[in-house]
Amino acid sequence: MSLGEPVCLVTGGAGFIGSHFVDLLLREEPGWRVLTVDRLTYAGSLANLASADRNPRHRFARADICDREAMRPLVASADRVVHFGAETHVDRAIAGGVPFARTNMFGTGVLLDEFRRAPAAGAPGGGRRLFLHISTDEVYGPLPFGRADEEAPLLPTNPYAASKAGADLLALSYYATHGLPVVVARSANAYGPRQHREKMIPTFFEAALGGGALPVYGDGRQVREWMFVEDLCRALLRLLRSGEPGRIYNIGAEKGAANLDMAERVLELARRKTGRVGRIEHVADRPGHDRRYAIDASRMRALGWEPEVPLDEGLERTCHWVAARLADSRVEAGPVTA
Ligand code: NAD
Repeated sequence: MSLGEPVCLVTGGAGFIGSHFVDLLLREEPGWRVLTVDRLTYAGSLANLASADRNPRHRFARADICDREAMRPLVASADRVVHFGAETHVDRAIAGGVPFARTNMFGTGVLLDEFRRAPAAGAPGGGRRLFLHISTDEVYGPLPFGRADEEAPLLPTNPYAASKAGADLLALSYYATHGLPVVVARSANAYGPRQHREKMIPTFFEAALGGGALPVYGDGRQVREWMFVEDLCRALLRLLRSGEPGRIYNIGAEKGAANLDMAERVLELARRKTGRVGRIEHVADRPGHDRRYAIDASRMRALGWEPEVPLDEGLERTCHWVAARLADSRVEAGPVTA
């Protein structure tokens, strides 16, 4: 990385959202260099960075965000940090929360500490330093009615959400205590190409495209807001450019859909594509499954951002991607193992 050009470090950039964000950053900020850091857990893949890796402004480093010695020079080389790296699957968190506490809380602490230690004057590109922490609407817990704005209490109910809430508070404490320029983004559920097949939408598509059973937890009436990954990444880029340090920004579509509705949409798209007719199978519910998430994203919209990709279009693009992945003989089919 040469001196004089802003450097953005993206943790978890070999994962689903992070890799789309890296692509967007390289496209939209032609004067920046991008350093992707990822441990490459089961959830990360270098295949997600195939297009970024053809760009001479991109560099990849395999490292664990909990490894302070490894992170120190990487963080010190950056003006901006966009922090996606995390354990992300709620079912795995229910099976055991310790890896979530380790990566999501301890790892975030390491990054904040190292960003604070890095001399501001030494920032390679000068100008704006920022730590953009990526969080989730799950930190607010379930809302029977209404919408959570950024001042709503944090009432997470599963170990994943709890570890993200802990990380949010840690990040905000570095702003309050040390004046570290931190912005927290809390996003609704994202979906789109490259999402790991253990997550709900890819699981549904994989089953539906094969004419099989879509496993729907419980009665399927759990309501989520669904954000196409590219819309989310555009919001995050906006925050990187003009988010106000010390602030939290909710990013949501403000239109909820029940999991059962999503399963039905997926079945219909897959039927149109393959002629195969899958079916819905209700399976035992997740313990403590939150019934409804809903956030007020007006602060984010006030920055001039709006989601642009309608649900039907986003799902269709996801359907094509899953179908192409399944058709690729290099990808093994079969159940996802924990
Ligand atoms: P993902 O599981 O696809 O990607 C996570 C990435 O982090 C992977 O590449 C993994 O290898 C990497 N990683 C895990 N542990 C690491 C460690 N110790 N050191 C370095 N890298 C590590 O997740 P995603 O869906 O892309 O989510 C990205 C971020 O966005 C997460 O912080 C998540 O909490 C947040 N988020 C996701 C959603 C969603 O619906 N997917 C919604 C809101 C917020």
